[in-house]
Amino acid sequence: MQLKTILNRVEYFKSFVYGKAGWVDGAEGHAIEVYIEARKNGRPICSGCGEVRPGYDRLPERRFEFVPLWGIAVYFLYAMRRVECATCGVTVEQVPWCDGKNHLTTTYRWFLAGWARRLSWKGVACAFHTSWQNVFRSVTYAVSWGLAHRNLGGIDAIGVDEIQWQQGHKYLTLVYQIDEDCRRLLWAGKDRTAKTLLRFFRMLGKVRSARLVFVCSDMWKAYLKVIAKKAPQAIHVLDRFHIMAKMNKAIDEVRAAEAKRLQRDGYEPVLKNSRWCLLKREENLTEKQAVKLSELLQYNLQSVRSRLMREDFQRFWEYFYPACAARFLDEWCTRTMRSKIEPMKKVAKTLRHHRDLILNWFRAEGAISAGIVEGLNNKAKLTMRKAYGFRTAEAIEIALYHQLGDLPEPEFTHEFW
Ligand SMILES: [Zn+2]
Repeated sequence: MQLKTILNRVEYFKSFVYGKAGWVDGAEGHAIEVYIEARKNGRPICSGCGEVRPGYDRLPERRFEFVPLWGIAVYFLYAMRRVECATCGVTVEQVPWCDGKNHLTTTYRWFLAGWARRLSWKGVACAFHTSWQNVFRSVTYAVSWGLAHRNLGGIDAIGVDEIQWQQGHKYLTLVYQIDEDCRRLLWAGKDRTAKTLLRFFRMLGKVRSARLVFVCSDMWKAYLKVIAKKAPQAIHVLDRFHIMAKMNKAIDEVRAAEAKRLQRDGYEPVLKNSRWCLLKREENLTEKQAVKLSELLQYNLQSVRSRLMREDFQRFWEYFYPACAARFLDEWCTRTMRSKIEPMKKVAKTLRHHRDLILNWFRAEGAISAGIVEGLNNKAKLTMRKAYGFRTAEAIEIALYHQLGDLPEPEFTHEFW
């Protein structure tokens, strides 16, 4: 079997044929070079308008890198024709294996992008003896193709969240589709201002925004404002995960302040290293941590009381009827306001302030589970951690779309990856 036969099986061109192939020993190692020729009587196509046009002249031969075979680099060699186009002037012809000034063939770019979903970008560059830049450009290409060809119809529920991508308050706003049958990253944008989220709604368009049924977010003011303005018909659910995270933060504050006070008063440092056993739920405590907790409980400490308040609040999520949940929420807030524990009182005030949006959790009848947004956000964090070598928000955005966007790909004769 000849190499040509294999190539025609995996990548067949209608108006071009594979010519002679040869083995070359170059400075960068071995490679296989395959000549490509235009079919006899095959007239060139203008890259400007896609029409068949008369030939003008030929450019010097170019090398296009194809998918490697048995660890050997493969190059196509072809001298591009220029065409004389009545509409576009003199342009370079359009060829099916590549576009623009790329020196990687389109198939090879999809190949690299496909692997970049499984390995880190650096890992892909190493495995296929190519540069990080080539992998980056290939992924960028795959993402922009996917974004241009994806279907944005039928979106009922979205979740908005932010993610820190660099020290010093550098955030990305992420918008996910969180429908039962379709969970994916819809949009990523720099910062977490009202302007950021407005850009998402501009992308989504008026018609699709107007048919949203559920929107899930945290209590970030800028988001609340934009969601109320752009999707007023949707039930806006405040995210359970973020509410509990706020409470955990308050408990942490109480503990830190109390530990300081106890030490100042000469008590043994019982609260030292107790951070995790205060934040964990009872059933998740290790044995050692459980002992520490019982030790702690001998004191009537604010930290312990805050933790009990949090435990008590967990019951809130188990209500079925919104009215019962509302009563529980109000009572919990009243009790907490009497507690004299400032950070917890602050949480209670916040909950009161967003009472309606929180109660929407029950109006959504469990259709929205914060776990979905949380799960997607954990994946996003993992993508960022794996993706060392990203310096810019743009590169991170591309990596996130690539991993979480569930983007479509064109159909190929052969599956290379
Ligand atoms: Zn043209």
